[in-house]
Amino acid sequence: MQVELITIGDELLYGKTLDTNAAYMSENLGAIGVTVVRVTTVGDTVEHIEEALHSAVTRADAVIVTGGLGPTPDDLTRQAVAQAFGRGLVFREDVYRDIEMRWKRRGKPVPESARILAHVPEGTEVMKNAVGAAAGLKLTHERTIFFFLPGVPDEMRSMMDDCVLPFLATKAAGRAIRHRLLKTAGITESALHEKLQGIEGGIQAVKIAYLPQHYEVHVRLTADGTSVKVAENSLARTEKVVREHLGYYIYGTADESLEGVVAGLLLDGGMSLCVAESCTGGLITGRLTDIPGSSKFLERGVIVYSGKSKNEMLSVSKETLETYGTVSPETTKCMAENVMMLGRTDLGLAVTGIMGPSGETPEKPAGLVYISLAHADGTYDKEFRFAGDRVTNKNLAAQAALNELRLFLLKNFKQISNRRTP
Ligand code: ATP
Ligand code: MG
Repeated sequence: MQVELITIGDELLYGKTLDTNAAYMSENLGAIGVTVVRVTTVGDTVEHIEEALHSAVTRADAVIVTGGLGPTPDDLTRQAVAQAFGRGLVFREDVYRDIEMRWKRRGKPVPESARILAHVPEGTEVMKNAVGAAAGLKLTHERTIFFFLPGVPDEMRSMMDDCVLPFLATKAAGRAIRHRLLKTAGITESALHEKLQGIEGGIQAVKIAYLPQHYEVHVRLTADGTSVKVAENSLARTEKVVREHLGYYIYGTADESLEGVVAGLLLDGGMSLCVAESCTGGLITGRLTDIPGSSKFLERGVIVYSGKSKNEMLSVSKETLETYGTVSPETTKCMAENVMMLGRTDLGLAVTGIMGPSGETPEKPAGLVYISLAHADGTYDKEFRFAGDRVTNKNLAAQAALNELRLFLLKNFKQISNRRTP
């Protein structure tokens, strides 16, 4: 079944209002096995609404339209339907009585302007509005079913839930769509695609989408099957193969966050942590302390921004700072080891970097970041080079540090990785 959406409103085109109606409809249609193939947005202009209706009727089995059903002069959907489909507007007593009742309950007479709400195109079924005044309209034109819903999100939702979804669910019987979101860290969209290229051809029933977020990429698997069971089975099979190809790059699923996963690993392993942050200015500690129970593993997080504070608070020697610089593997290593020692924890994590745009040198460009992880068995270091603006670089550095911590825990502590096989 080909389903299209048309959302009407100048405010949507101006970028003043986000099209949450389309998002709600698409998501809930997907849940009943109906795929939306196109969303069209038009302004409050009869001609443009008419065009959108004409064009949809040539393609779609069902079209859901929101907006422009109100009583004000910018609400033009009724008029556009009448013109597009050559149907006159007829006054419906039953619709008017409902409107009268609503006003009566408020102890007021019906305003003249509300009479327009009782005018509907000929041959239209009316859908009651449980939340507001404007009734919804349902009509069939040349084998395409049209649903016209109010633009007000609450009213649209209630009519979708009460009328449209149950109706389309019966039409869509025999199809089911299921999604699975896998969150990755430490890998780019194109590298992910390269890793999965080989398998994409073999899994026609499941679509793979790459969704770059701010500082990480999500992989969404969508399975389309003849029943929920069929869709879920192909999803599970595909997820297994995808996980085999991506391994540790996947850190979690839809409900998980990177800091939550790291916290879980630390708790599982009974490990404690101290953090020393320079260029991230507390972002890492901030994210870890978002997780309930973080006091069980986080001993302290210190922000040592200046060379002076690195020396005074973490005993990084003046010699190290002068010889190698504040942004160097040597300084970062010393910060990680000393913060671990001071807090008497199992691990010490430290970050230094040049966030830009100022402060860079030919040898040390903006975006250069060092991350060190100290543990009783030794210290692990890694260099990163990010190419964002200042705030992006800070967040990328925090993300990379949390990811390095995750990988370190998974790879070095058997008791943890046994419990959490990728
Ligand atoms: P009304 O009776 O209020 O005139 P209507 O059916 O004519 O209802 P609109 O005038 O188009 O609807 O929109 C009413 C309100 O709903 C506005 O505040 C608008 O911003 C919001 N709205 C309309 N369409 C959408 C949409 N697609 N997504 C989110 N909000 C929307
Ligand atoms: Mg309106």
